[in-house]
Amino acid sequence: MWFIIKRDKVNKIAIFIVLILVIITGISLINKKFIKTDLGSDYKGDLDSLNRYQLDVSLDPVKMILEGELIFNYTNSGQFSENQLLFYLFPNAFKSQELSPYEKNYLLVYYPDGFNPAYLEVEEVRDLTAGHPLSFQVDGLNLWVDLNRLLPPGEAVRLSIKFKEQIPSALSRFGGFQNIISLGNWYPILAVKQDGQWRKAVYPSWGDPFCSDTAYYEVKFTLPKEYKLAHTGKKLKIENRGEQLVYQLEGELVRDFALTLSPNYELKSEKLGKTNIHSYYLPEAEEYGLEALRLAKQALSFFNEKFGLYPYEDLTIVQANLLNGGMEYPQLVMLGKNLYTKPYYDAKVFEFVLVHEIAHQWWYGLVGSDGLREPWLDEGLTNYSTLLYFESIYGKQERERLKKQFIDLPRGEKNPLKLDQPLTAYQNGEDYYTNVYGWGALAFEELHNILGDRKFYQIMQAYFKKYKYNRSSIDDFLHLIEREGRIDLTSFRKKYFSN
Ligand SMILES: [Zn+2]
Repeated sequence: MWFIIKRDKVNKIAIFIVLILVIITGISLINKKFIKTDLGSDYKGDLDSLNRYQLDVSLDPVKMILEGELIFNYTNSGQFSENQLLFYLFPNAFKSQELSPYEKNYLLVYYPDGFNPAYLEVEEVRDLTAGHPLSFQVDGLNLWVDLNRLLPPGEAVRLSIKFKEQIPSALSRFGGFQNIISLGNWYPILAVKQDGQWRKAVYPSWGDPFCSDTAYYEVKFTLPKEYKLAHTGKKLKIENRGEQLVYQLEGELVRDFALTLSPNYELKSEKLGKTNIHSYYLPEAEEYGLEALRLAKQALSFFNEKFGLYPYEDLTIVQANLLNGGMEYPQLVMLGKNLYTKPYYDAKVFEFVLVHEIAHQWWYGLVGSDGLREPWLDEGLTNYSTLLYFESIYGKQERERLKKQFIDLPRGEKNPLKLDQPLTAYQNGEDYYTNVYGWGALAFEELHNILGDRKFYQIMQAYFKKYKYNRSSIDDFLHLIEREGRIDLTSFRKKYFSN
């Protein structure tokens, strides 16, 4: 069929189309305006349905009590209507001595003042869209919120969760001791789904039992003015309110938001490309605080080149109260205080831990995975990436020496477990470490050897590009290698995996 439209009708249709376009653009701008940088252009999901955490909290560092509100915008991006949301309350893992996520023999080492309970109490949950309170149940680490209606796919709800929490006096990623407080996994965070169902939280004494999706964060953090704050995201503004400071922070496309603070911190920053690298350290550890800055820059530059560009404007390294080692959060690396302190300071251990945590910015932070179900995918790859850094900076001999020190020796002669086990399949921290970090890194080394240097890095870059800001699984990873590398990994799978 072919038809002619009269001119005045054409004009009306044109005006109508322009109006519709203006309205659609306007609506999408309202929804997308919170991604202010060019990060959003790289996000493969739907920016309009990105979840949004607005946290407004204030901290009393003496009583170690934190109080405030989370306003959470949730869009149902699944295929079915939902009447319930699940949030994880990780602080509740610290409620009792029996449940405390530390191996019992070491409890007093983690709690130098003796065990003291910590928890997160939910005071009220409201549906801000409908304007009424919602019923909720707290079951250990899990907060179930009844939406009181069916939320169809594509629809959004805006919730308020008022909460109060007690921070433990402990050497921990969530804890405070001697004027340093670390807040890792400290607020109600949306749970993940497994096989279409919300998955409940567990918190064993080893590993990082976390899994979350990329979101947008606005954090308003009030604290006494003598404190300095290291954090995920970037600072928008610091407001002076008498004896208090109000930090306004923003995290774009990050999967978690962590902070560490102390009145004693010194800060030094440097720039690499568009990234500002910050090092927070105690004054007596200045030498190593500056070393952390230099090494972070070196590691960032290496991983940028090998895997793909770190996209954020800030990366922060902070001397925190962890007992040993470090902990990764998006844009924030917490390093154990003792790593910076003589006589414990060891140049190679310091560098190994720091570079490992920076590699996690790629394998955990940007390319997410399931730390509870498939810890190999981030820890094995992160540990192997660390070896690659050492080889590039110090040569093959040094890589082999470190492989002995950090991988072969702890692994010993034990037979490995299959690497597609969940965190809970391991007996204890040592068993987990030797398998996932030790055998885990060796499995990546074998893949590297199978593929050859050029193909290996090509595939790692393709993997980074494909899953940046998203989550990947062992299957996704191996399929990508088989496809891009045009190889068959059947015998590799048999050697390292149960499926
Ligand atoms: Zn790690």
